[in-house]
Amino acid sequence: MKKIIIYFLSAILILVVCGYGLLQISKSRTFQFFGSIVNRVDTEEKVIALTFDDGPETHTNEILDVLQEKQIKATFYVIGERLQENLEIGQRITDEGHELGNHSYTHQRFLFKPLSFIDSEIQNTNQLIREAGYEGAITFRPPYGKKLLGLPWYLNKHNIETIMVDVEPDTYGTTSDFFVEYTIANTKAGSIILLHPFCETCSEQRKAVPLIIDALKEKGYTFVTVSELLSRR
Ligand SMILES: [Zn+2]
Repeated sequence: MKKIIIYFLSAILILVVCGYGLLQISKSRTFQFFGSIVNRVDTEEKVIALTFDDGPETHTNEILDVLQEKQIKATFYVIGERLQENLEIGQRITDEGHELGNHSYTHQRFLFKPLSFIDSEIQNTNQLIREAGYEGAITFRPPYGKKLLGLPWYLNKHNIETIMVDVEPDTYGTTSDFFVEYTIANTKAGSIILLHPFCETCSEQRKAVPLIIDALKEKGYTFVTVSELLSRR
């Protein structure tokens, strides 16, 4: 009887440890089971990529105005269903020389999802990105950074690169001053910076965008799109 209890507790312990390990892997920025995953690029050159997730929405135009004024290029990881509703904003992004990346069609966690779901989420969004006029290679950023088996397997099979991030200020604070300070302190050559400035309650992030650009320019950084950054590998 005593032995059975020990076996039972051991089995539970093993399940908990494996579950915890898989959870950590599912949100890792630097490891996945299939294909390459990029959270920054190793380079001596002071080039960096500024990325914006979850658009396009009305506030995307404000950010595009800032980028135009500051004369820099960025990458927008768009949600397919939002792009469908705001295709003209997607076209503006492309017309102004920025990059469009795929951030899924409905922005759900890609854990334990069937391949048919993964396929339609990615292909529907890729098609809309093409309709918006973007002609370059399309990379993918998983919603909430979550991926485990099916998604990396699918992306690898279709030669789509998984792009994560190494500087994400809104994970650690809420004010524009903090976003600027954190970004300046943590950005290095080859960094991929992520901001979420489009939601109604994201005014602090919108406020931070021009300040971050000015401060990083002053430090000698050049802004490039994700594809340009990847070409420096
Ligand atoms: Zn997102």
